[in-house]
Amino acid sequence: MTRRSPGSDDASDERTCASCGERIELTAWHPVLAEPDASEALHLYPFCSADCRTAWNQRNTEND
Ligand SMILES: [Zn+2]
Repeated sequence: MTRRSPGSDDASDERTCASCGERIELTAWHPVLAEPDASEALHLYPFCSADCRTAWNQRNTEND
């Protein structure tokens, strides 16, 4: 069989800030935001700080 296993990016243990891309320590507290995507599935967006969450939230609600 030549089938390759799907999902080769193994970065599930690392998360990056949805606003600035900074790496987030999962052991430390960090803000998250739950937002539905285009297909209405709920996604969790992690942020390195509350400031980033605010900035991302403002940017995300701008084009309403
Ligand atoms: Zn950030």
